[in-house]
Amino acid sequence: MPRDPRYDILFEPVKIGPVTARNRFYQVPHCNGMGRTFPSSMAAMRGVKAEGGWAVVSTEQIDIHPTTDITGATEGRLWSDRDIPYLARMCDAVHEHGALALIELTHNGKFATAAYSREVPLFPSHIPVVGNAPVQARAMDKTDIADYRRWHLDAVKRARRAGFDIVCCYAAHNLSLAGQFMLPRYNRRADEYGGSLENRVRLFREIVEDAKEAVGDTMGVVARFAVDERRGAEGMESDGEGREIVEMLAELPDLWDVNVAEWENDSVTSRFAEEGYQEPFISFVKQVTTKPVVAVGRYTSPDRMVSLVRNGVLDMIGAARPSIADPFLPRKIEEGRIDDIRECIGCNICVGWDHLQAPMRCTQNPTKGEEWRKGWHPERIPRKAADDRVLVIGAGPAGLEAALAAGQRGYGVTLAEAAGELGGRVARESRLPGFAAWGRVRDYRAHQLRRMANVEIFLDSRLTAGQALEFGADRVAVATGASWRKDGYGRAHQFPIPGADGAGVLTPDDVMAGSAPEGPVLVYDDDHYYMGGAIAEKLRGDGLEVTLATPDPVVSSWTVETLEQHRIQARLIGLGVGVEANARLSAIGDGVAALACVFTGRRREVAAASVVMVTSRLPDDALYRELAGDPERLRDAGVASVRRIGDCHGPATIAAAVYEGHRFARELGAEPRDIPFKRELTELAAEFALP
Ligand code: ADP
Ligand code: SF4
Repeated sequence: MPRDPRYDILFEPVKIGPVTARNRFYQVPHCNGMGRTFPSSMAAMRGVKAEGGWAVVSTEQIDIHPTTDITGATEGRLWSDRDIPYLARMCDAVHEHGALALIELTHNGKFATAAYSREVPLFPSHIPVVGNAPVQARAMDKTDIADYRRWHLDAVKRARRAGFDIVCCYAAHNLSLAGQFMLPRYNRRADEYGGSLENRVRLFREIVEDAKEAVGDTMGVVARFAVDERRGAEGMESDGEGREIVEMLAELPDLWDVNVAEWENDSVTSRFAEEGYQEPFISFVKQVTTKPVVAVGRYTSPDRMVSLVRNGVLDMIGAARPSIADPFLPRKIEEGRIDDIRECIGCNICVGWDHLQAPMRCTQNPTKGEEWRKGWHPERIPRKAADDRVLVIGAGPAGLEAALAAGQRGYGVTLAEAAGELGGRVARESRLPGFAAWGRVRDYRAHQLRRMANVEIFLDSRLTAGQALEFGADRVAVATGASWRKDGYGRAHQFPIPGADGAGVLTPDDVMAGSAPEGPVLVYDDDHYYMGGAIAEKLRGDGLEVTLATPDPVVSSWTVETLEQHRIQARLIGLGVGVEANARLSAIGDGVAALACVFTGRRREVAAASVVMVTSRLPDDALYRELAGDPERLRDAGVASVRRIGDCHGPATIAAAVYEGHRFARELGAEPRDIPFKRELTELAAEFALP
């Protein structure tokens, strides 16, 4: 389909100093859990984005010296010439598809523990490092400042040798020395690098000037700067020093990449912010500089992008998460395939896995992180291996993705769903307060499936094993999901909680199915991801008195990894939900529940007419077990394989269910492999002879 002329403006080239971006789509630097640890994976992932039409494809943060060693995080590194080849590989992958490669250089200051290098971390003033490690960063003296400028400059020169087209000088997210020098709460210096705003900005100005001088007309130079920190007068404010700094340096860089710090304010989840949430903070920037401006805001709507450009807010559309969820977003707009865009749902699972130091994964894009090691491409999938018919039972995220990917391979697919709607847990959970955007997991797939002539969908069809076999399918995927347990079994309890079999005890499934518990309600969260907090919020919104008890010190503790924990706790407190932390539920009685302190065991009672148990789930795998347990019956029915996928296989995230569905389809007709992916070190080792 031809591109809608309304979107022509998005495909105008943009000059970034001496280099030219082919359009206005700019993948900003983003962590990915691969970096220098999994460099082949990282390079392939970036190459796919270039192929998908992004004009600028950036690295993650690249640290420049052993004093900024943030071991634990799998970021990039450019300490010496020896680091050039792996970064050159990324440049090649990006250039192959006509995009510009950008490198973001940083020194993390107090965010580096130097656990590997054993150097003493550096900072504008003396301060303990983050993460409560027993380490302090020391105040930099003049020699340190000169060294830092030299390291940065050396890294710029090496970046050019690696093949980068743009270098980004970093002063955002509080993660960079040059930015940390700007903040009075960090910078307590009395020399020419402290005190006045001009002095505090001096170091950033210097590294940008150094870079510009070094690259001449060979590379663009970007200033990446957080104009606001959302911490009032204590921090950077976009109507205060944030604006003054952009005014001071307005024409110095070739492009401004502006945002809001820290990371949790930059990558806000959809529960807490809408598309475009940074606009009130960054919209002034274009008024004070003639240089192009880029910013993010989880933009997936091309109409919104056009209005940003037309209204003079941005020159380039920045994206990290939308480019992860759909690396082909620009190409799809260009080719008039708007309906094919796989929109980011704003869940931050991508951030979570980066935090876990594992290759990034994405709820919407099951191929993310698998581009190199499994050879999965987000838009291309091999044709079917045989004329097998595929039956997928259950249309939650696992079943929907299995049916979609198998359909894309050309298989004849039947998708049977017990409920009257598609989506499984996604349908249920997206009705919880703040979760509407998660419905995109279902909507994207449902839309694609309905257009496929080789896929038939049956709703209101709860299949028995006998009915499943009657379909005459060759391959069966059982994606029947999982159910929340009522007995309290989970991380803190490996025996049923006394009283858990009472009438007033419910599960999240009951609540999502419409059961109205009697108040006061105790939500017991031993799961620690979003569900406990979400159920508490829903029930409080229904007007009930609610207490959330958890054995952890904070509510929804795992959501630290998705940058949401503090917001969830603040929201619950604001709604008047009582919080009982460090508390195990030890018994449920008539109208009361007994909580025990996790440290002392001391018990206290709280009023609870009902209890919602959010502890763990059990796979709904009876159908799978019946089918798989009778190979003879399968053979008679002509079924070559039965596989359980998603929560029915192992209850986990929606991202895991989508991945399992995709994997099922990819592996149709393939021999099972014990290690289904390539590994970086063993691939490298393969170049050497085995003893
Ligand atoms: P997952 O996250 O693994 O996709 P879900 O719980 O979201 O799992 O979805 C499982 C889906 O399977 C639900 O929509 C449920 O209604 C459906 N289902 C369960 N048992 C059957 C069955 N016997 N036949 C058809 N659909 C089923
Ligand atoms: Fe978006 Fe979630 Fe994918 Fe991250 S994991 S890109 S937030 S859909």
